[in-house]
Order: sequence, then structure tokens, then C-alpha cells
Amino acid sequence: MKRREFLGTLGASAVAFTLPSAKAQQGSMSSLPQLAITLDDFNLFDTPTMTAGDRNRKILDALKAENLKAALFVTGRYVDSEQKRAYLKEWNDSDHIIGNHSFSHLYYPDTSFAEFSADLLRGEKIVKDFPRFKKLFRFPYLKEGDTAGKRDGMRAFLHEHEYHNGHVTIDASDWYVDGRLRQKLKQHPNIDLAPYRNFYLAHLWERSVYYDHLAQRVTRRRVKHTLLLHHNLLNGLFLGDALRMFKARGWQLIDADIAFADPIFASEPETLPAGESLIWALAKQTGRFDKALRYPGEDGIYEKPKMDKMNL
Ligand SMILES: [Zn+2]
Repeated sequence: MKRREFLGTLGASAVAFTLPSAKAQQGSMSSLPQLAITLDDFNLFDTPTMTAGDRNRKILDALKAENLKAALFVTGRYVDSEQKRAYLKEWNDSDHIIGNHSFSHLYYPDTSFAEFSADLLRGEKIVKDFPRFKKLFRFPYLKEGDTAGKRDGMRAFLHEHEYHNGHVTIDASDWYVDGRLRQKLKQHPNIDLAPYRNFYLAHLWERSVYYDHLAQRVTRRRVKHTLLLHHNLLNGLFLGDALRMFKARGWQLIDADIAFADPIFASEPETLPAGESLIWALAKQTGRFDKALRYPGEDGIYEKPKMDKMNL
């Protein structure tokens, strides 16, 4: 789900964010935050310290250890061999949801509606025969249309083809941390991984708390969260640690199908450009949270200075 670098030029003002007041946390909001895991792309390749197969095994094992069913959003063009299809079958057979993340992972602002919608159907062909396939579509880069025509065109198309939008409520930049880690490992294969682990967990926690507080302020209730992660080395190494962190800090891990049943996921915010985290878009739509919203919602540009400073 990598953002293009040029998106960084659109504006990266610092986030001014206020914690919800004690009063706002009372009542219906006193229940535990709930979190489901979603993993995008399924871009499998060997990395300096882990083969594609080992990574797949470790991510599945981390979910299994928590008895957790995730949703995997597959980019069709990455499933280009029998071996990769076999890895994907492991997800199906472990009862995780298999969703559609298009075939080519196109960037919708640079693509016509006709080409983008055709690419969705091309991606569907790769995954549709798996019994655990569900008609959930996740927009590449979380970009849902830069004009009202393209945004509403895809919304009508999803309805027509009986799809739901596989929204993210908690967006994050695991892909960026992963890229930095792999780059470092190429030069220093025996580097201590603990600083990367610590940075990653702190990042996930910070973004999760941010979106959870924003969700409470916007919706006046607790929504069921879907966290955006990717099938990458970083999660091969640390997904288990991340899941244990959330539990230790009072968050409840829930299956993806339970999260996606929350009515929040039927929302169609009328923002332009459309997309980002669903919570981000719902907040933007109100016009009341502009100080708490940066654009894009998440990107490597926000993490780069921190990682540079820590020499990661
Ligand atoms: Zn993606």
C-alpha cells in the first residue's frame, strides 16, 4: 500500500490532537477497544533473513497463537506461481478471510474509472474460487477517487457487484518501517533487531490510540477497528509481539468478520479526494477536526525523520 513520495508535498502539517475529555470517555465508550487485523498485498519474496515461506508461516502462526482470524487483501498479480497459490491456500485453510485488493494495485487518481473497475474484476478471478473469499474490496493506497464522478462511480460499481469496501479504521506505515529494515539488513545482516521492534510497536500503538480517540470524538461510540498491516518481513518478525502488546494494554483482539459487521463500514463519507482511514474520512466530512487531520493520513514522510534520528 505504499504511498507515492509526491503525496508528501500535499501537506504534512503537524498533528495537533487533544485527548478526549474524561466526560467523553464515560457511558457507552467505557467498553474495551476492539481490534481486527487486516494484511494487504500478499507480495511474497525472500528477504535477507527470512524466506517467503517462512514469513508466511510465522505470520499465520502469530495469528493462530491468539486464535485470531484476519482478513488478507490479495493483489492478484503477486499470486504468479503454484507455490504462491499454495501459500494463499494456507490462509484459506486456516479460515482467514480472503479479500480483493485488485490485480495491478493501480493508483486510482492516475487511472480512469473504466480501467480501475476492470482491474478489480481481474483481481477477483485470482481469489474467487477460494471458499473463504469474501466480496470485500480494499482500495490500493486507500485512494477511493479524486473526483466525485470517480468516487461515486466506484461506489455504484461495488454495490452492483455486491462488494463491500474493506475499510481500514486504523491506518499505519508498517510498509515504510519494513522497507527501512530490509535496506539495513542488506548491509548489516546481523544487526540487533530490537530497536526496529520497539520503533514498530510504538508506531502501531501511537496510531491506534490516535484513531481510536478520533473515532470516539466523531462517532460518540466505540467502533470495531480494522488495522492496516502488510504481509512483510516486519510482521513475520513482530506480529506476535504486536498482538501481545495490544492485549496487555487492554485492547480486545477480534476476528475480521466481526469487525466488518460493524455498521460503520457501510459509511460513504463525501470527502474529496476520497479515501484514507474511514475514521479520517468521517472526521474530515464533519469539518470539525481539521486540526487533528493531516493529509495523507499516514505516510513514510512522517516516520522518516524519527527513524533517521534513531539511525534505523
Ligand atoms: Zn496495497
